[in-house]
Amino acid sequence: MTETAKPPLLVKIASPRGFCAGVDRAIEIVELSLHKYGAPVYVRHEIVHNKFVVDSLKAKGAVFVEELDEVPDGVPVVFSAHGVPKAVPHKAAERGLNYLDATCPLVSKVHRQAERQVEAGRHIIFVGHRGHPEVVGTFGQVEPGHMTLVETVEDVARLSFEDEGKLSFLTQTTLSVDDTAEIINALKARFPAIVGPKAEDICYATSNRQAAVKVMADDCDLVLVIGAPNSSNSLRLVEVAEREGTRAKLIQRAVEIELRWFDGVQTLGLTAGASAPEILVREVVDMLGRHFDVTEERVKTVDERITFKLPRALAEEADAA
Ligand code: SF4
Repeated sequence: MTETAKPPLLVKIASPRGFCAGVDRAIEIVELSLHKYGAPVYVRHEIVHNKFVVDSLKAKGAVFVEELDEVPDGVPVVFSAHGVPKAVPHKAAERGLNYLDATCPLVSKVHRQAERQVEAGRHIIFVGHRGHPEVVGTFGQVEPGHMTLVETVEDVARLSFEDEGKLSFLTQTTLSVDDTAEIINALKARFPAIVGPKAEDICYATSNRQAAVKVMADDCDLVLVIGAPNSSNSLRLVEVAEREGTRAKLIQRAVEIELRWFDGVQTLGLTAGASAPEILVREVVDMLGRHFDVTEERVKTVDERITFKLPRALAEEADAA
């Protein structure tokens, strides 16, 4: 019996893709906390938006909760990479909880900018996605009433303020680079005196992953993005590919791939959001290899060498590990 030849498939793999420095640090904080304090270590909110990562940490003894009230006294608690409103560490301190803050330093930077703008007497227009934990956390850095959320250019058209000379803008870190540029242009056109950061606050990892997909998508018949449906930066990667005119699908695991998507596909683009581990990229390539004669090709747009320091309480633990 002769085996039918598998159809050829060129798989272009974007680089950079997957874990960013903030996600690496957040996961390390949970792992080192488990090592230092022993299980259970509580984590407020998914440490990063990825089920595989969360399940792996659960298996090691992490317990995920949504609110501090669910954390018993006397156990350590880690705050997720997305950041938390100021009230959360205050409440944890009041209860005498040992808390470790895994907020990405690039999100913390936006928090400090928000405080400074309010101190300078400016009202902040924040560009972000309603309900995203990072947005909730950033709004929670200042007293209510100092920040207004906009999600679209249409939202900008509806804004009105008594003192238009005292406005500033800030952005979520994981937005679409192109959409955000349009919203900022609309803000500057509507409020010429508005002040903002020199570059918008979209982080290096989000920008780099979007740029890599932009370069790759044009040569691909289909793009697969590995990421969670609640991961902002992963959803943006799907949009970037679609804007380049290429069909794109968001998947969490290889098992979700449907072979009918590959009708007429000769070149596939593959990338992963900032919270998706590399093991899931390999899982997808292995699965495709069972159905296609796969040739892999890297599409490298930039080298990423950024790392972030661990909290002092865990630095020694990291050295010893
Ligand atoms: Fe930090 Fe950007 Fe990674 Fe978010 S995506 S954790 S802001 S580096």
